Amino acid sequence: MNQSSSLLHTDSSSCLQTVSLNMPDEALSTPIVNDQFSAQDADITIQSSDGILFKLHRSNLAGITGAFPGPEIDTQGEIVHLTEPAKVLEIVFQYVYPRKHPSLKDLDFDTLLQVAEAVEKYDVFSAMNTCEWRLSEFLPDHAVEILAHSVKHGYPESIDKAGLVLSRTPHLEMVEMLPLHCVVPWLKYQGAWQKIFDNAIRHIDGMFYNYYCYDVQHVCSPCRVSLLGWVTKLSQIKTISSLRDAITTRNPSIYNNSVAHPWCSNCSGNICQFHLPTVQKILEDGITSIPPFTEFLKAKEPAPSA
Ligand SMILES: [Zn+2]
Ligand SMILES: [Zn+2]
Repeated sequence: MNQSSSLLHTDSSSCLQTVSLNMPDEALSTPIVNDQFSAQDADITIQSSDGILFKLHRSNLAGITGAFPGPEIDTQGEIVHLTEPAKVLEIVFQYVYPRKHPSLKDLDFDTLLQVAEAVEKYDVFSAMNTCEWRLSEFLPDHAVEILAHSVKHGYPESIDKAGLVLSRTPHLEMVEMLPLHCVVPWLKYQGAWQKIFDNAIRHIDGMFYNYYCYDVQHVCSPCRVSLLGWVTKLSQIKTISSLRDAITTRNPSIYNNSVAHPWCSNCSGNICQFHLPTVQKILEDGITSIPPFTEFLKAKEPAPSA
């Protein structure tokens, strides 16, 4: 006992070591206390999934969050185990106390997403908007995760931003990751996108053949083939930003008609100077007219039943 006492006075790590010699089971599991949340007068202890303790005040937890019990409920000194790691809880709990809230600006995406999920789970209202805003800054990257998160927790602005980024992603990839209730609205949303290309092709098919392009009704054969090929290639572009670029810049690598048309004076060169602007406008107007994904989600919602 004397030896223990002398070690206790040297430093705190020796203290832990001494205890472990006397009570191995308890001491081996003695967890580290987070240095930001170690208040002496704490009345609740929370343990992270990686074993770090947070000593907190229930009055703060109950006042700021919707999910923690207030001081009126006695946890009888037991540790509350949460499923989030300490690096996530340390951020979440900073929103619980009356102090300057973290900006979250230097977080990597995965940590930010975990914080955002925890904030929703524990109803930490004061952190929700910051999380949503920071998550949307990662677009167009991580659009799939952002769409899933915003659909799950109901953030229309992020749903629409991420939905637009993903609008040209192949159906199967999307269906595999979307929550079930979003699948039908999503297929309708992508159907609306497909219609833009169908409309452009219908317009090109509706024109009459002529030796050269001379009015809205008449197109020469090479120009028709080029236009159809262009629209088909556009419809296969998988990102909305590349699609917009390709439409507006008439990207030559997409509008690839290597042979100039010798008999079409209006369209000499590699593109149909005459009809391309019309087709371009059909596509641009079509893109502008597509409602955001949340409109498709709303349309799916059934009428509330008794
Ligand atoms: Zn032509
Ligand atoms: Zn032409």
